[in-house]
Amino acid sequence: MAERLSFDVLVIGSGASGLAAGVSAERAGASVAVATKGSLQSCNSAKAQGGIQASFGADDSPEIHAQDIWQSSHETADMRLVDVLTGDAQSAIHWLEEVGVQFTRENGGYRIAKCGGATRKRLLQVGDRTGHAITTGLRETWEAGSGTTLAKSPLTALEPGDNGWRARCGEHEIDAATVVLAAGGRCYREAEERGELSTNHPGATGEVTRIALDLGAEARDLDALQYHPNGGAWPTNMQGYSIPETTRAYGAVLLNKNGEEFTDSLGPRDAVSQAIFDEVEQGNGVETPDGRPAVLLDTTRISEADAEVSLPYMLRRYRAAAIDPLKEPILTFPVLHYQNGGLVIDTEGETTLEGLFACGEIAGGTHGRNRMMGNSLLECCVFGRRAGRAAAEKARA
Ligand SMILES: Cc1cc2nc3c(=O)[nH]c(=O)nc-3n(C[C@H](O)[C@H](O)[C@H](O)COP(=O)(O)OP(=O)(O)OC[C@H]3O[C@@H](n4cnc5c(N)ncnc54)[C@H](O)[C@@H]3O)c2cc1C
Repeated sequence: MAERLSFDVLVIGSGASGLAAGVSAERAGASVAVATKGSLQSCNSAKAQGGIQASFGADDSPEIHAQDIWQSSHETADMRLVDVLTGDAQSAIHWLEEVGVQFTRENGGYRIAKCGGATRKRLLQVGDRTGHAITTGLRETWEAGSGTTLAKSPLTALEPGDNGWRARCGEHEIDAATVVLAAGGRCYREAEERGELSTNHPGATGEVTRIALDLGAEARDLDALQYHPNGGAWPTNMQGYSIPETTRAYGAVLLNKNGEEFTDSLGPRDAVSQAIFDEVEQGNGVETPDGRPAVLLDTTRISEADAEVSLPYMLRRYRAAAIDPLKEPILTFPVLHYQNGGLVIDTEGETTLEGLFACGEIAGGTHGRNRMMGNSLLECCVFGRRAGRAAAEKARA
């Protein structure tokens, strides 16, 4: 028989956005549960490598960051959300430091890199395991609090209840005044259906978005899925691996079979991915030993010093497969990576249904139809914090 539980706030999902929402709701005084599909650790956020954007550079500002997003989104982003994202970025970084995240530093400040579509250096990193560091800090903070964790408890049903919402999560029937949906995107399932590779975790299957849509929540840009321009194409154990965009930030360039540069390697993601598709289509690509299409990423142009600080995990993985990216180019091809669109939210993360909040990849608008790298982890923290706090306040009003 189902176990009956009751909380002020129920958070669905334990990636960076769900953990940020859980911590923030609890700190706002609410009784909170985080229900998640697998273990607390399993999510896409922990796999994120490259970094998180925030305008700390002397020549940078939240307004310039916002303008870069507007351009990269091809003028489709919701600028109300973008202004919140870029305006809250510095405080989100300090909040992450407070939960124990130690960003890589140099010369007395943060080590910052320039990522695709950016006009300034703005990408903070924790080596090349930024998502791992962020989720570890948030998870340890969540676990040190008094919130309830319901692992192996996937959301399968949600309906309005007498006092807010009634949810079915695994074996639990849960009453909650407010609910925060933080269940991520759907690129793993989408790639399986298309017979393609994906960078995503197997939990990224999108059923929670479907539940919200069936309840009548509005969504936007759900058809806009993002390819990561640089999926690993060879060797086989690196297929679907997302080669960090910081390789290109630190000097790697894309080459065709003739060794020619065919695109701006630091262009917006959709432009770089399309350029690779086109180059291969025109017969200028190379083939992996198992017959897959690819182009070359000339990683030999990265300095040993930059690679050691910002790409140690990537180097270890390739070298373990007997390929040294600092001595030879690696093979790459775009892979399904990110759901750009999602549920429509306001600046506090509330969807178009009262008391139902959404944050992280499940929400839409912040990136329009094309996300810049490094803005998703930021979105998780900025809107996770906001949604958690607003859900707690509404639940206790
Ligand atoms: C390999 C890789 C590298 C990346 N690198 C970067 C980067 O460098 N910088 C950056 O900004 N972004 C990066 N991204 C994107 C970013 O990491 C993700 O978009 C972001 O972390 C998503 O966070 P989230 O909390 O919304 O979802 P997730 O982290 O995907 O978490 C979703 C959670 O919901 C749970 N869940 C799913 N369905 C259910 C259900 N039915 N019931 C209950 N729980 C459910 C899942 O198990 C999981 O715990 C990367 C992504 C990948 C895959």
